[in-house]
Amino acid sequence: MAASDFSRLIAAAADTIAAHAEELTALDQAIGDGDHGLNMQRGFEAVRAEADAFAAKSLPDALTAVGTKLVMTVGGASGPLFGTLFMALGRELPPAPDRAALTAALGKAIEAVSARGKSQPGQKTMLDVLQPVYEALAQGKAGTEIAEAADRAADATVPMKALRGRASFLGERSIGHMDAGARSTALLVRAVAETVEG
Ligand code: ADP
Ligand code: MG
Ligand code: MG
Repeated sequence: MAASDFSRLIAAAADTIAAHAEELTALDQAIGDGDHGLNMQRGFEAVRAEADAFAAKSLPDALTAVGTKLVMTVGGASGPLFGTLFMALGRELPPAPDRAALTAALGKAIEAVSARGKSQPGQKTMLDVLQPVYEALAQGKAGTEIAEAADRAADATVPMKALRGRASFLGERSIGHMDAGARSTALLVRAVAETVEG
């Protein structure tokens, strides 16, 4: 990937998180502690601040650097989990991946997040978006379809009962609200899909 392409990816990710920070905060206020918007914004602005240096690296090294920066800056439960996602992608991806390599790497990265979070899809977390995105990629779907699948998957967390993270403390009362991390994941997926295809 050209350095300018990776810079555009970082900008698109940081822009969508900034544009939706209040929404992410409101989602986390309903069934968490209300910091997810700020956590993600802090992390992605820290990544944006080093975009040029990251973009000068190979794709695997750039993704590893993004993941490391997110671990250091996002905080909360989601920081280590998003950090693990990007670091695992960096570890698994070749420098110039095709769709098959991307699909395989995302599968491994989801396994890494799942191990780190001791969590599975179906528990009302970011994994409930990542897993359908993996499946859409594996099925050869176009970027716009993958972004739509991610949005639907985030919507589908509304009726779920949270079994991991702070929202799980609410038990049945977590039902009826979208998971904040699922929403931020869907935003990132759309930003990547639109940047790569747009
Ligand atoms: P905190 O809950 O520590 O305040 P954030 O608000 O930044 O952290 O992030 C909360 C999000 O992290 C949740 O909405 C959920 O998507 C995700 N999350 C929390 N715990 C887990 C877990 N064990 N596995 C996967 N995702 C998780
Ligand atoms: Mg929170
Ligand atoms: Mg918190």
